[in-house]
Amino acid sequence: MIREVEYNGTIIKYELERKKVKNINLRIKPDLTVAVSANRRVSMKYIDSFVLKKADFILKAIESFKKADKIELKPNFSEEDFLKLINYEFDRTYNLFLKYNISKPILKLRKMKSRWGSCNFVKGIITLSYNLIYCTEEQIRYVIIHEFSHLLVHNHSEDFYNIVKIYVPDYKRIRKEMNKINLR
Ligand SMILES: [Zn+2]
Repeated sequence: MIREVEYNGTIIKYELERKKVKNINLRIKPDLTVAVSANRRVSMKYIDSFVLKKADFILKAIESFKKADKIELKPNFSEEDFLKLINYEFDRTYNLFLKYNISKPILKLRKMKSRWGSCNFVKGIITLSYNLIYCTEEQIRYVIIHEFSHLLVHNHSEDFYNIVKIYVPDYKRIRKEMNKINLR
């Protein structure tokens, strides 16, 4: 089960597994997911607050994992080719999503520090990060599919990833690779 807690405006996601452990265990896996295992008797509220107490440690550990695994940032495209690709993929994805009866979202590009994209499904705006210029075509395609899928499902539930999976079957691998890209 994936859960989220908010710490000073930062969302910390963790994977909760119920296991026969003494109380609660928390570890950060090399792919940067936060894994928590807890006994069935421990309440959700308690687990969330436990993760929050460890938030500082978690964020620092993720940061140092990223540094150790740092991928050097080099743009993969010229500015012109990048914009062409983004527009091309955006239109291509819209065509794939036509069958869901969505109206065409507005595309915005902007500097975003910690995200690759976002979707304002109320206003019908998909915002993509200029940092995608450091990504591969495959990664860019995934981010655009991801944001379009939010027009249909607004959270990161199983329903959401079931849609993503239709278009990007190996999204997990792509997401892992993208998590290693250090933007700072
Ligand atoms: Zn999302």
